[in-house]
Amino acid sequence: MNAQRILITGGAGFIGSHLAEALLERGHIVTIIDNLSTGKFENIAPLCQNPRFRFAIDSILNEIVLDRLASECDVIFHLAAAVGVKLIVDQPVQTIETNVNGTMAVLRAAVRYRAKVLIASTSEVYGKGNRVPFSEDDDVVLGPTVRSRWSYAASKMIDEFLALAYFREKGLPVVIFRLFNTIGPRQSGRYGMVVPRFIQQALEGKPLTVYGDGNQSRCFLHVKDAVRAMIALAESDSVLGNVYNIGSQEEISIRDLADLVLRTVKGVKLRKIPQSLKEEHAEVVYIPYDQAYASGFEDMSRRLPDITKIQKAIGWSPEIHLQEAIEDIVVNGFLTQK
Ligand code: UDP
Repeated sequence: MNAQRILITGGAGFIGSHLAEALLERGHIVTIIDNLSTGKFENIAPLCQNPRFRFAIDSILNEIVLDRLASECDVIFHLAAAVGVKLIVDQPVQTIETNVNGTMAVLRAAVRYRAKVLIASTSEVYGKGNRVPFSEDDDVVLGPTVRSRWSYAASKMIDEFLALAYFREKGLPVVIFRLFNTIGPRQSGRYGMVVPRFIQQALEGKPLTVYGDGNQSRCFLHVKDAVRAMIALAESDSVLGNVYNIGSQEEISIRDLADLVLRTVKGVKLRKIPQSLKEEHAEVVYIPYDQAYASGFEDMSRRLPDITKIQKAIGWSPEIHLQEAIEDIVVNGFLTQK
């Protein structure tokens, strides 16, 4: 793709900042907008040296700013959203309003200038579906509205409906990608994400907190693989008006994940600071769900993506294995929980 002007909403977040970095490496001109609610300035600080990078610390609900930024770009990656299950259960009003109003604002601005829009959605939209693996055209079963966890999925589904409606009704070039569990350096464990939490616990010699019996499983994709898929989608014209899963198919139970994190942290420590191992006490504790989450939460037992569609469309598949991804985070750091 020739150098393009690219706007990333939520660009100071974990995934947005990796995306900004990769786009700059490819020679693009990158602007981000982020209100730093969960994003961090330190995520983008190293990019500020680059003359092709600029940022606006503001909300995407600031119409004047968003209009101007949309008028100056060719492609918008819309990543700004309420993040993580913890935040969702704790602050459902903010989740629903941010997700729905934010996407509406982005699409309205994009359509004025015919910018191509890539909307970040989530594997949460598969809800309680028990057909494994999850495929883009599957039916969706959500829990009842009294369980606030499902508000996140419902709000993201509205985002998807709206984006596809802009594509069909107004001819706006739109692509939707559903991110499954994504991990990598700079991710924070603050909003519940299991991998940075386990790594921080292991590094601090604290017990790893496995929720439930730990037999629930997930597939964790390195953010670099995710970003590579997102950029390839932006570069393709045959994907417009479609929805794609982006995720790893390397499935692991949370119980085994805890062991893998412990082993990996031990291995890295052994190489870097052998004397620290004397104080190694880290182990695993099992925490019942009702103590781990506020009431109204239901955990998913399995979450595995079908990635046939994206493989066929752009030839993408993951390249970084889980163990390698965990090592990368242990070595290159993550945001510690306050
Ligand atoms: N989890 C856990 N201990 C933690 C945090 C999460 O056992 O300290 C579990 C959680 O219950 C879920 C899995 O790890 O089954 C993945 O959780 P995460 O919040 O990372 O992602 P999601 O639930 O959205 O897949």
